[in-house]
Amino acid sequence: MTDIPLVDLAAAHAEVAEEVATGFKRVIAGNAFVGGAEVAAFEQEYAAFTGVPHCVGVANGTDALELALRAVGVGPGSEVVLPANTFIATAEAVARAGGRPVLVDCEPDSLLIDVDAALAAVTPATRAVVPVHLYGQLAAVERLRSGLAGRDVAIVEDAAQCQGATRHGRPAGADGIAATSFYPGKNLGAYGDAGAVVSADPALTALVRALGNHGSVRRYEHDVIGMNSRLDGLQAVVLRAKLARLADWNAARRAAAQRYDELLAPLDVVRPVTLPGNRHVWHIYCVRVPGTGRRDRVLEMLTAAGIGAAVHYPYPVHLTPAFAGLGYPPGAFPHAERAAGQLLSLPIYPQLTARQQAVVVAALTAALAH
Ligand SMILES: *Cc1c(COP(=O)(O)O)cnc(C)c1O
Repeated sequence: MTDIPLVDLAAAHAEVAEEVATGFKRVIAGNAFVGGAEVAAFEQEYAAFTGVPHCVGVANGTDALELALRAVGVGPGSEVVLPANTFIATAEAVARAGGRPVLVDCEPDSLLIDVDAALAAVTPATRAVVPVHLYGQLAAVERLRSGLAGRDVAIVEDAAQCQGATRHGRPAGADGIAATSFYPGKNLGAYGDAGAVVSADPALTALVRALGNHGSVRRYEHDVIGMNSRLDGLQAVVLRAKLARLADWNAARRAAAQRYDELLAPLDVVRPVTLPGNRHVWHIYCVRVPGTGRRDRVLEMLTAAGIGAAVHYPYPVHLTPAFAGLGYPPGAFPHAERAAGQLLSLPIYPQLTARQQAVVVAALTAALAH
């Protein structure tokens, strides 16, 4: 039996290999290694794809978040509200921008940010709230936005996992600013690190571009202390080739998720919940395995059977040593903590076949029965 990976980057590469090879030749011939025509073209194409008019390519998703936070005014003394159930980068970006992360729990079913808890955590020091569109679907940003109406608090969306997703027809960043990651394993992945910030407000993206280019709009004129966070031409070639296929790839992910939903219905696992109004792009398909320690045993058995299962994520932010200094004790965010102990991500990628899914589900069935 051949192994089934969590994500099959080789299968994606096979589809774009020729375009990437000719694009790389173009970049090398033109010596446009940082920025340049490929990057500009990608930024336009990504803006058109998402439907958010302005896009700035940056070096990675964590930088994209940090730059977006700085662009809306987060700095020393700012509080930023974010969910405890997220990848560590969301909290890192807040800290790197000089802000103080204020954590809130997730909803028990969708595992996305608890909007009511986020609104309740807002204080006069709050400069931004970061909803994280985890696993491939958007959190209820419209409820967050109406709850924040009239207050001077920005919404900076963490859209690293939701390229192509919409909520009530609106993409991340359409009404504010969103940061995304093109880490290789993301729905749209580069061949290295890359990221982007999108916004409908050209002043915000212009600020992000300047901050990511040494605080400079004109060469050698530095208005603020910025950083070096730019997209490079070779990555833009890869991203353009993959972007042309992303709608089809996301549709294939949706079909695979639906197949899992059907195959897993009889099993003793909790299947993922999609919020009404969401067009999900299934960056991650994660079930929950109830029972103490049971998830870890199931994961071990799947690994032994050659199934690329994983946990996203084993520790909520407040239980990592890096953020222990925030002072949240175990038990502070019960839904996030329970999820961390139960979540199990199954292989999902556009080229995953129905046969492979049947093998995954058979292995999971056996592991659960053990
Ligand atoms: C991947 C990811 C990031 C960070 O992106 P990098 O490109 O790896 O820096 C941020 N937030 C979430 C939710 C992510 O999944």
